[in-house]
Amino acid sequence: MTLYIVVPCYNEEEVLPETSRRLGEKLEELEKAGKISADSRVLFVDDGSKDQTWELISGLHKQDCRFGGVKLSRNKGHQNALLAGLMTAKDCCDAAISMDADLQDDINAIDKMVDSFANGYDIVYGVRSSRATDTAFKRGTAQGFYKFMKLMGVDIVYNHADFRLMSRRALEGLSGFEEVNLFLRGIVPLIGYPSTTVEYERGERFAGESKYPLKKMLAFAFDGITSFSIKPIRWVTAAGFLIFMASILALVYIIVVKLLGFAVPGWSATTASIWLLGGLQLLGMGIIGEYVGKIYTEVKARPRYLIEAVELTPAANRRW
Ligand code: UDP
Ligand code: MG
Repeated sequence: MTLYIVVPCYNEEEVLPETSRRLGEKLEELEKAGKISADSRVLFVDDGSKDQTWELISGLHKQDCRFGGVKLSRNKGHQNALLAGLMTAKDCCDAAISMDADLQDDINAIDKMVDSFANGYDIVYGVRSSRATDTAFKRGTAQGFYKFMKLMGVDIVYNHADFRLMSRRALEGLSGFEEVNLFLRGIVPLIGYPSTTVEYERGERFAGESKYPLKKMLAFAFDGITSFSIKPIRWVTAAGFLIFMASILALVYIIVVKLLGFAVPGWSATTASIWLLGGLQLLGMGIIGEYVGKIYTEVKARPRYLIEAVELTPAANRRW
């Protein structure tokens, strides 16, 4: 079987030499073991890097045709870069594995993924067995994120990031999801097909710093929720309904007080309710606005990525 390993890279010049060396070794090892064919490739996606990343990828390709590269026209974010790579790989491979460039995903888990594929699974999720190497903060926020997603009714695999194997059939399925607000972790389980998980230890970033600062991480989590769940809007509706019921009770109370003749204008109650209702209304409008914004970007259906250059030598007998 032909395996493509798709690696999104954003300013990864510090780790690329080591990553490519280790992935090259892995391909060789798997090929020697007869698990993958000689036309298997490592496909790097340069997500509009500002450093020497593309030059490095291009150089690797010139030296060794087992390395290929796709260059995006500008920085489009991890998810879009990954999709660009997977969609490029789709027509050349039997299965594609996506992994990070920084060697945090354990390369040795690839063996187990390939074995699972041979056993008939279309999707193999890499699931991290521990978070010992993460900072307490990252661990806490990440775990909170998975729990919150579950609460929101989004079907995602616990402790699985974007380290996974997908068969060609699953990639074809993925290509049918045309949403612009990409959250692959939520989409892939929707594809279906037989799937399984493989556990791995997540290591530390080999070099360089995280390309996912807190701000990007929060935006990513928020996108994940609003792209897959309409529960927040339901909550707003429920809150609105409860407050409406409460206001009917309050009205009855006010009328009774008025009729009994001890209506003392209550300043505190009035102010409190103005603040409470104003806040709730703004919150509700904000949440609805978020979804309207989503509809706006989806309706525009802008391209999720544009490919500026491809340097890849798939085997001659494959269609490109
Ligand atoms: N990445 C990307 N585009 C971006 C940000 C990140 O392609 O805009 C890539 C990055 O090069 C790496 C992967 O996505 O291969 C994961 O990023 P990183 O390791 O910085 O995230 P973390 O592991 O800290 O969550
Ligand atoms: Mg990382």
